Amino acid sequence: MRPAWLEINFDALAHNFNLIRARAGNVQVVGVVKANAYGHGAVEVGKELLRLGAWGLAVATTEEARQLRKAGIVARILLMGSLHPQQAQEVVELDLIPSISTLESAEALNALGKPVRVHLEFDTGMGRVGFQPQEAALVKERFARYQNLLIQGIYSHFADAEEDEPWTREQTAQFQQVRRVFGPGYFYHLCNTAGALNYSAYGFSAVRPGIGLYGLLPGLGLKPIARLLAKPTQVKALPAGRRIGYGGLYTTQGLEWIATLPVGYADGMPRLVFNRATVRYYPEPEALNPQPCICPVVGRVSMDQITVKIPAPVSLDQVFEVVTPDFDPTSSLWGWAELTGTVSYEPAVRLSPRLPRVYLRDGVEVARVE
Ligand SMILES: *Cc1c(COP(=O)(O)O)cnc(C)c1O
Repeated sequence: MRPAWLEINFDALAHNFNLIRARAGNVQVVGVVKANAYGHGAVEVGKELLRLGAWGLAVATTEEARQLRKAGIVARILLMGSLHPQQAQEVVELDLIPSISTLESAEALNALGKPVRVHLEFDTGMGRVGFQPQEAALVKERFARYQNLLIQGIYSHFADAEEDEPWTREQTAQFQQVRRVFGPGYFYHLCNTAGALNYSAYGFSAVRPGIGLYGLLPGLGLKPIARLLAKPTQVKALPAGRRIGYGGLYTTQGLEWIATLPVGYADGMPRLVFNRATVRYYPEPEALNPQPCICPVVGRVSMDQITVKIPAPVSLDQVFEVVTPDFDPTSSLWGWAELTGTVSYEPAVRLSPRLPRVYLRDGVEVARVE
């Protein structure tokens, strides 16, 4: 195996899943595993979410759904986003539950002559996809004519349940309006992670968390589930005045120990974090209270390698944490996002499929993908 890998902690995943479900009033959970489960591995994470009791899984593209079906997952798969009419055939073939936002896609699907369960999406304030709430009665009437379409669910999506409370309440009021038109008997869902955690009363039939399952929002009791680990490929001492990396953006100040780790921006580490990110290792892991040794990344992040400054030589078997399972400002996925002016979603989804992934439950390896 490559000496750089992602370790995914299923116990932390279970913690996050149960925390979100409890906060949302123990409603159903649609596990969002789009973008390769935010970089964590859709098949393995998806199977674990189903084991934990998820109602089903949600993806963004038919290719993502195909990967899950190929891996033997027979559970419900919600295809989010607005279905394009040209994807209707694939929806039937893969037995997916599509999101319908247009009459064009409804007609294309209905014309195939096979019964399909669908979820209607309403645009309550995101402005992206969905029927308008004011059209609800009209939509209801039109769908009564589509003999092959069974409306199973009705949903909408929050634009800013992190910060904008008035807008979130407005969106919820719009969604309630839609619910009044359609009435009981449907699977209603509205909340993403921030919605589920900040507005427990808006649980409806289910919530659709993504980022929270992966533990990447700070301050809410969630636990990041991934660590990016690597062993050095070379450890050496360099004298003062030596340049390190592309562009020579770091120069040794005296005799310095430098370890080279085989991860780079092709693995998802942002190139922009050079000279600011840190990595860690534990010189005495068996100690009662092991103290990390925090090592700065020195010089540019290369495509496949980084260089870190260490206080003393280590063996090539020393494991370094390149991504820590916390909210450290310089060594976590959240920290990388802060350092590069984005949100933790982005470094997470950029974790490259070329990294092997090792899945642990109760500290024991239960799956591995290389
Ligand atoms: C991505 C997505 C989610 C999950 O959102 P998080 O903020 O990651 O919890 C839920 N619903 C829809 C429609 C989405 O596109």
